[in-house]
Amino acid sequence: MSQRSYLDYNATAPLRDEVRDAFAAALPLYGNPSSVHEEGRVARSAIEAARAKVAALVGARPEDVIFTSGGTEANALALAAQTGEAWQCYMSAVEHPSVLAGGRFYRETTTTLPVTRDGVADLEILAKELEKHHLGGWRPFVSLMTANNETGAIQPVAEASKIVHSANGLFHTDAVQAAGRIKLDMAALGPDMLTLSAHKIGGPKGIGALVLGNGASVQPLIKGGGQERRRRAGTENVAGIVGFGIAAELAAADLAKVGAIATLRDELEKSVAAVAPDAIVLSARVGRLPNTSCIAVPGAKAETLVIGLDLAGVAVSSGSACSSGKVEASHVLSAMGVPEELAQGAIRVSLGFATKRDDIERFLRAFDELIKRLRPRVAA
Ligand code: PLP
Repeated sequence: MSQRSYLDYNATAPLRDEVRDAFAAALPLYGNPSSVHEEGRVARSAIEAARAKVAALVGARPEDVIFTSGGTEANALALAAQTGEAWQCYMSAVEHPSVLAGGRFYRETTTTLPVTRDGVADLEILAKELEKHHLGGWRPFVSLMTANNETGAIQPVAEASKIVHSANGLFHTDAVQAAGRIKLDMAALGPDMLTLSAHKIGGPKGIGALVLGNGASVQPLIKGGGQERRRRAGTENVAGIVGFGIAAELAAADLAKVGAIATLRDELEKSVAAVAPDAIVLSARVGRLPNTSCIAVPGAKAETLVIGLDLAGVAVSSGSACSSGKVEASHVLSAMGVPEELAQGAIRVSLGFATKRDDIERFLRAFDELIKRLRPRVAA
């Protein structure tokens, strides 16, 4: 491949070299981790070493980490309805589709919480909604992501957690995009469940975790063997888990470097404003992930920008979703009240551990050319 600049880390991050090496070294560990013999014990100890690393990334106890097939399964596991009590589920309107699907909650028992124009959940509305549960006799289950995948907006998770707990509820946060980009600490954030995915932090695809807090328990989604303390059956993905562990360790160490990523992102936004002064950076007024920029260009079509940038060697994604052949504005931007026409011109640029100034410069050269070509009068 000719030289390219990959600026789509929120879709997935490149596999880290150290992860690839550890993954390859773990593939020959063929023992079944549940076997008592030496082959099994070797695989088991590789898993437990990785579990400790993943736990350390979020300040959790290793025994509270449940490995799953990824963020989607971890969210589904969190949302597996609790038994023995009547539950009402609340989720923000900007959650990932794997949360919005609702797990085992019925549509009638699910309430979507609005977000502000900056894409932040409105906790006053949450508090008011939860007051109702005293009358209804049910318990609330609330899911609020730590940071949004499209805009990078950071949600008030610690405050939400307190509100939910004072209403005797359970609180889940999807931290897939926040991991490795902002510090995550189970004690400070207070969730009963937190979702992680390896491939967003330079780990392998197809492996993630649900991390439990406050002594919470889950109802297994996948039943069978007694793996993962009877919380997720199935012979473990040993190499994937080992790779996840190394990725988590590197992500924790790299938190010290996120300031440099934010500087590159801010430079990019400044240069974009010089080329397209009417472009709008969404969620710019609130706390955002240091690596994410969602830029809406009035009068442009996101697909045209994404394809034009791709041809110029730059990978970004669009803020709109293509379903059944029709390009629709994303549910995130719609929930924020971004006008449909503007949302159609939104692209997401997301940086990561391997991003260099050269990548930003390549993006800006291509963006400048595209804007001049697509909107000669505005750019002039
Ligand atoms: N949650 C968020 C916020 C995500 O961005 C993603 C992936 O795009 C997921 C969950 C799903 O994770 P996975 O791809 O590991 O299933």
